[in-house]
Amino acid sequence: MGITEVKVAEVKVAEEKVTEVEASEEELNNSSGILEERKQSIRLKSDADLCGGGIRCDSDSVSGAVSQRACVYCGARVVLNPITDAFHIVHGPIGCASYTWDIRGSLTSGDDIFRNSFSTDLREQDIIFGGAKKLEAAIEELAKTHHPKLIFVYATCIVGVIGDDVEAVCKQMSEKYDMLVIPVKSPGFSGNKATGYKMACNAIMQIITKYRDQPKVKGINILGDFNLAGEMWIIKNYMKKIGIHVCTTFTGDSSLETLKLAPSATLNVVQCAGSSVYLANRMEDEMGIPFIKVSFFGVEDTTSSLIRIAEALGDEEARLKAIKFCKEKTEEIEATIEMYKKNLIGKKAAIYVGGGFKAISLIKQFNALGIKSVVVGTQSGRKDEYEIIENIVDQDTVILDDANPAELEKYMKEKGVDILVAGVKERPLAYKLGIAFCDHNHERKHPLAGFEGVVNFVQEINESINNPVWQYVRNNKK
Ligand code: SF4
Repeated sequence: MGITEVKVAEVKVAEEKVTEVEASEEELNNSSGILEERKQSIRLKSDADLCGGGIRCDSDSVSGAVSQRACVYCGARVVLNPITDAFHIVHGPIGCASYTWDIRGSLTSGDDIFRNSFSTDLREQDIIFGGAKKLEAAIEELAKTHHPKLIFVYATCIVGVIGDDVEAVCKQMSEKYDMLVIPVKSPGFSGNKATGYKMACNAIMQIITKYRDQPKVKGINILGDFNLAGEMWIIKNYMKKIGIHVCTTFTGDSSLETLKLAPSATLNVVQCAGSSVYLANRMEDEMGIPFIKVSFFGVEDTTSSLIRIAEALGDEEARLKAIKFCKEKTEEIEATIEMYKKNLIGKKAAIYVGGGFKAISLIKQFNALGIKSVVVGTQSGRKDEYEIIENIVDQDTVILDDANPAELEKYMKEKGVDILVAGVKERPLAYKLGIAFCDHNHERKHPLAGFEGVVNFVQEINESINNPVWQYVRNNKK
């Protein structure tokens, strides 16, 4: 072959390569940008073909989809963390401990040891020779220096791999120092965040089961509230106003002593169903305590929850008080809501929160403000919750489970969203897209529950959506 022929052949190969690249780019542009395996988890109400029927949820994340959902260990830690006098030892590399250190804005009226984090800081040598001795030493050190009553020991991914007998160490240390050392088997890879919730609920059951034979009192336990920015105190105050006794709370502003009172209650009310309905089910089966699901987000849900709690307790006096109390509170805040509503009618919101119940409350709150929820997703919503969501949103609302940032970005852009209500992990995404943001998760510093919460929420939504900064961002993009 002569030089000219070689050059022609090279050019042909190069041309073919260019065509290949162009074809794959075209393919990418034509595709929805959504992984095939994820399509079942995204439902557009008006277009059943997009997902082919009911939403896929309550299942493990698709590998490689880079879900926003946290790991099993994180799920367990966020539920147990607000127990104010508990010590948390994270048996694993230091990264696992720092990942969830003081993760919630839970307030306390007692101890504040829960705001610390302890780690066995496993290194290469421990991975090779085992980390049990290090764990033993960590518990001993805490026992001698702090005299704890309750320690949770979290087994993380690497412990699941090397197989340290965490249970045996905890048992041995419990007996030696006469304290509760509870193993939480939560390797990050062993399921999804909801698995972690179950592990936490099992740990709580381990504490309260031996007190199940105490006398009953007419009162409630509040499950699935973490006293973020003092929300539990607002709800407990409402209960006091309508004459309902609160036995204990899970886990916001709780302690070992208050948890022990839980079996005395006659009713469990479950606020965050995603994290606590498993505990409620176990308490119903093993202690005969029935439960109802409630929500204290928004005027409508707060009112109906207070009335339903009184009804479930069969307390007519409390029911009448609840009706009167809610009417007064609603009237008190009406003028403020109306004032802000003028600025918000016609705006579009995206919601991406942990559980389905919170999403449902948010959709209702936005409806009341004249804001349309055009994208709604949760990390761990269940089928029945998604059915309710589907029934209360418009035909063209995108509903997604266990989303990743790319999907959130795609649908927020497509729908022209004005504000994203989500957690701390989604905040940078909203800001990068020039979209207003409201934190409705762990780290917020003001309460969003109850009637006080409604005012805070509307104020924040108004300030965020109507902040002049978005105008500058949009102008800059042009
Ligand atoms: S438990 Fe596993 S997935 Fe979770 S933070 Fe630790 S290493 Fe990461």
